[in-house]
Amino acid sequence: MTHPDHRPHRDVEGTELCDLCGTLVDESEAYLSVVADSSATATDRGGGLMDGERLLTACCWDHLETLVYAYEQRIFDIEELWAAIFVEAHRRLGLTATTDQILRATGLTPHQLDRARDWHTHHRLLPHRNLDDGAAS
Ligand SMILES: [Zn+2]
Repeated sequence: MTHPDHRPHRDVEGTELCDLCGTLVDESEAYLSVVADSSATATDRGGGLMDGERLLTACCWDHLETLVYAYEQRIFDIEELWAAIFVEAHRRLGLTATTDQILRATGLTPHQLDRARDWHTHHRLLPHRNLDDGAAS
């Protein structure tokens, strides 16, 4: 399974891609679900989601069930969420953003920001963890 973050979410106006198989599906016929995902920030896909929530799109009920099951098996790691918020703030503010700017933009505490940086530093050195190997750990 390809990690949803590595695919464009919209190809054609009014259509969505199934997060499992990549089939183009009319958005009025798409199967949707919101799941907990510590790698997702609210700005990843918009639409009123909160940090730690991911909107799944599928072409059919079976694919939605498969996706929801995979995310249910994935560990929700609060430090991963802080790291995702930290990275997203850097993306928005630029790499020269100061710690104070990051703290103001994210609402993280200095302690949370330190742990987010530690998580990011440690995990970016490891191979990307996708749903396939994440579900087994
Ligand atoms: Zn599908």
